[in-house]
Amino acid sequence: MSQLPSCPKCNCEYTYEDGEMLICPECAYEWSQNAVSNEESSNVIQDAHGAILQDGDTVVVIKDLKLKGSSTVIKGGTKVKNIRLNFESDHNIDCKIDGIGAMGLKSEFVKKA
Ligand SMILES: [Zn+2]
Repeated sequence: MSQLPSCPKCNCEYTYEDGEMLICPECAYEWSQNAVSNEESSNVIQDAHGAILQDGDTVVVIKDLKLKGSSTVIKGGTKVKNIRLNFESDHNIDCKIDGIGAMGLKSEFVKKA
């Protein structure tokens, strides 16, 4: 009985199962267990050390990154301000780098500044 997750809306612990769905008796919210866990994993982008990144954060590139299709290299140690998270892409950080321009970075190659 203790295996059911709390309600994602109101945190009520007394949720119950109805077939594929979970139902909260407090706020009457219904959701599917699978959908919730998928949503959670795609709602978080972590840096190389597991810190959670957010829109507007400043990050530092931790290794030299070669830009695809060009000879430009983003040096390790480059500071990138005001990032935007992009959950649609495997380059999950949209940003603008001084002297280079707009691009996508992978969160595994940056750390939160
Ligand atoms: Zn609820």
